[in-house]
Amino acid sequence: MRAYNFSAGPSTLPLDVLEEAQREFLDFSGTGMSVTEISHRNKAFSQIVEEGERLLRELLHIPEDYAVLFVQGGASTQFAAVPLNLMHNGKADYIVTGNFAKKAFEEGKIYGDAACVASSADKTYTYIPDLKNVPFRDGTDYVHICSNNTIFGTRYIEFPETKATLVADMSSEILSREIDVNKFGVIYAGAQKNLAPAGVTIVIAKRSLIQSPLPLCPTMLQWKVQDENGSLYNTPPCFSIYMAVLVLRKFKKEGGIKAINEINEYKAGLLYDFIDNSSFYTNSVVKKYRSIMNVPFVTPSAEQDESFLKGAAKEGLVSLKGHRLVGGMRASIYNAMPVEGVKALIAYMKKFEKDNA
Ligand code: PMP
Repeated sequence: MRAYNFSAGPSTLPLDVLEEAQREFLDFSGTGMSVTEISHRNKAFSQIVEEGERLLRELLHIPEDYAVLFVQGGASTQFAAVPLNLMHNGKADYIVTGNFAKKAFEEGKIYGDAACVASSADKTYTYIPDLKNVPFRDGTDYVHICSNNTIFGTRYIEFPETKATLVADMSSEILSREIDVNKFGVIYAGAQKNLAPAGVTIVIAKRSLIQSPLPLCPTMLQWKVQDENGSLYNTPPCFSIYMAVLVLRKFKKEGGIKAINEINEYKAGLLYDFIDNSSFYTNSVVKKYRSIMNVPFVTPSAEQDESFLKGAAKEGLVSLKGHRLVGGMRASIYNAMPVEGVKALIAYMKKFEKDNA
């Protein structure tokens, strides 16, 4: 039996994509080689990279003057790449809305005068700070945000108006809702949640901003170099890129991001409605900032959380344990989580409540 996998990342991938990869595994595109064996300089593979870029541009309406890159090192490496490519005045503002936003901020401090200008740490990151009153500083190179907070289950519903370049970590929500790329100078996202297996990270960066990385920026982290080499400066994570392309083709076939977002809103709505109508389960995020990707919740006690998780696993509902920082449960319901998976989770929650309330 295939489990319903609610892992926050690496995460569930669409079954038909996994099956397609399985069918093609020994003979990629008629080459007689597996995609895991083929040279990244082989035309059949470089076409895959080009198709990935094309599909991302189409699905996210990315303008021509933005580079679209496939890089390695995870989103965490981009925490350093951001200052190393952009911090020309040595000064940047960060909004800290969770664990990864904080890590990005700490990394920024290594390279210059990084300041936390707004934070929701005072209420365990259960909201997004009021964006109208953020004391952004003058003369900064960029403002960094994390648009969806994987651990705490919040998301921005609008983005700050900033004089400086806006940079967003969209790791846990990329391709889940429509965004206006023009608002951002740089968007980056580890692919292992909505898009692909771990190993590839997407960077979308306005070309005019990335032409002069800092002198100490390693070549591999220079977005300009990656762009000039069509993401093939060195050996890329071939299999992850290939899988991303299969997933992107599926997103296109299913009607693009608008259609996918409608389903995501529906799935999240089912789960939040159920939680809100129950006196047994609680989600403590301020309603308007609730993520539609990551839904943390608790029962009345840590012991019941524990037994909830054990029982869920027996029903094939797996990886529901909340992050160690918050405990409880977290259902990550990324694009590839079918509506039936969310319904199965709710049915189990109902039964558990009945047996344990
Ligand atoms: N940012 C966010 C929002 C994340 O959820 C994660 C991973 N869970 C990261 C950054 C770190 O990503 P990686 O493990 O790819 O470095």
